[in-house]
Amino acid sequence: MISKYPLYINGQFIETPEKQNIINPSTGKVIAEASLASPAELESALSSARLAFDQGPWPQFSLAERKEFIFRIAQGILDNAELLASLEMQNTGKPIKETTFMDIPSSAKTFEFMANNFIGYLDNEELSVSSEARGRIIREPMGVVVLIIPWNYPLLIACWKLASALAAGNTVIVKPSSLTPLTVLELAKIIHKIGLPPAVVNVVNGSGSKIGQLLCEDKRVDMVSFTGSNEIGKQILQYSSKNVKKLTMELGGKSASLIFNDVDLDVAVNSSLTSIFLNQGQMCTAMSRIFVQEGIYERFLESFVQKAKRLKLGLADNHETQMGPLISDAQRKKVIAYIDKAKAEGGKVVCGGKIPENPELKNGYYFEPTVLVDVGVHSHIFKEEVFGPVVLIHKFSGSDEAAILANSVDFGLAACIWTKDLYLAQELAGKLNAGTVWINTYGMFYNELPYGGFKQSGFGKELGKEGFLEYVRFKSMIIDQSEEGKPLVNYWYGF
Ligand code: NAD
Repeated sequence: MISKYPLYINGQFIETPEKQNIINPSTGKVIAEASLASPAELESALSSARLAFDQGPWPQFSLAERKEFIFRIAQGILDNAELLASLEMQNTGKPIKETTFMDIPSSAKTFEFMANNFIGYLDNEELSVSSEARGRIIREPMGVVVLIIPWNYPLLIACWKLASALAAGNTVIVKPSSLTPLTVLELAKIIHKIGLPPAVVNVVNGSGSKIGQLLCEDKRVDMVSFTGSNEIGKQILQYSSKNVKKLTMELGGKSASLIFNDVDLDVAVNSSLTSIFLNQGQMCTAMSRIFVQEGIYERFLESFVQKAKRLKLGLADNHETQMGPLISDAQRKKVIAYIDKAKAEGGKVVCGGKIPENPELKNGYYFEPTVLVDVGVHSHIFKEEVFGPVVLIHKFSGSDEAAILANSVDFGLAACIWTKDLYLAQELAGKLNAGTVWINTYGMFYNELPYGGFKQSGFGKELGKEGFLEYVRFKSMIIDQSEEGKPLVNYWYGF
């Protein structure tokens, strides 16, 4: 029997007449049926989230009470870790090793981090602004926040946003991707069980093209925190301009890894494989352009291709699987179209480039890890995000050229530098247009460090104090301290 996943609005689980089958991309089988929100459910979510913020207890709770709830959500995730890891694996096709050791524990950790730290980020600041007045900066929640989540890290990205938004005292409406709503809807059950007041968290599932505009335009919403593609990000910028809202935009990337002659070749090759093929390359920070210094280029390429061919594609529930399927057949078709275009523009496939022949995988949306060389810097695939297991490998001679190549795209999300010369690495990092630069490592996100992109990779931050403060508004209070309670304004008209 297929599980049903209702919406979560105003503290109630709501089944709607319109439903969507949720597919396991590893097997092509239907694993659940999720309710889809109509304008009526959106209205209910918007009005109850607004009311819960304006009149409900959540924003009025003491910081210690809020902290307790945030901890309980973290604990709820850990208590249900096995279920959530399995559900995320089935819904996204990510290998179970990834969901078990990355997505789920990291989701809980972000709540723990915010619970431990957010109170310190909310300290009011007293400023002596003049002899006549003293100033105070008050930090308040933004209000009602819409959180829009992509399908590549459905629970983790929702938790990054939720932990900050809730700790700051906001009420939220979460809109997961309609391809992958299951773990967020499961989280709603956890949140319900721990007794968060109704309508502090609402989850509305539905196709973005049908419900996104209503959510992003509505006057009752104070902020939209979006993670997804540039194309949709640009639409949201337009929607939210109607009633002027605060936005954070975490968009796409075309990140570069710069590998110098002096590296340990095995470390650089092994790490670079992970930096593009983890989650089948469906990572915003995927290092989809690898630039290798000419002294080691041939050896690097040979070893990289040889190891890429050995990666074990398999069913997502197998602990030995190193690469699972893409999220959907549509995504696989998009990847294939990019490779065809790259070949037409002179690129050469030296590894993969096709659907695997293994009969065990024939119903899933698998694609082989793919390496392209000889891709011109003006070709589409050099500049645009593929969001699949496809990497371009290039040669460079010196660090100035490496910086120019890395910066030559419209995105600015992340970069990697591999060299033993830490002086060079840090100097080069300073020249890169990238919100995150990993030096001799890749992929770790730390709750302490703000994360977000530059240029067309968006604006605003997730995580860290800076990510938390995105969900906070600043109010300046000016308090007269003139002698005898007669401020300057009192004398202005000379009465
Ligand atoms: P997407 O832009 O297609 O969808 C993202 C979310 O927006 C989904 O919930 C979708 O339903 C919703 N949406 C779609 N149309 C909408 C509309 N008109 N109005 C409002 N919402 C709408 O992205 P995706 O395919 O789910 O995810 C992949 C993209 O996300 C990639 O471009 C990737 O780089 C990006 N991403 C960025 C980061 C980051 O931190 N910068 C992290 C993960 C993913």
